[in-house]
Amino acid sequence: MMNAERVKSKIRKNDLVQVISGREKGKSGKVLGVNTKTGRITVEKVNMVKRHTKPSQANPQGGILERELPLAYSNVLLMCAKCSRGVRHGHKMVGDKKIRVCKKCDTSLEA
Ligand SMILES: [Zn+2]
Repeated sequence: MMNAERVKSKIRKNDLVQVISGREKGKSGKVLGVNTKTGRITVEKVNMVKRHTKPSQANPQGGILERELPLAYSNVLLMCAKCSRGVRHGHKMVGDKKIRVCKKCDTSLEA
């Protein structure tokens, strides 16, 4: 079972993440949304699906619509700019602020 509190502290909107498993493995992108209820996150341009849509009022042309499908938390890691890959992260106090840091090189992972 995934603990909601833990999920909350892990990855946030606008973080850069890398996919570490599944068909999108190796891809990275910006987090567009986090759903703490389902434990899934949406990453920009990752896990795209094509939807064929009929013309409607909102989309008079109809046609093919592309959008991101959410991924499971466990499939992504925070991206470390220095390591240039997804990494496990720890926490560090800077002043009175708790920040997330790369476990390998200690670089801040805060955007
Ligand atoms: Zn690093």
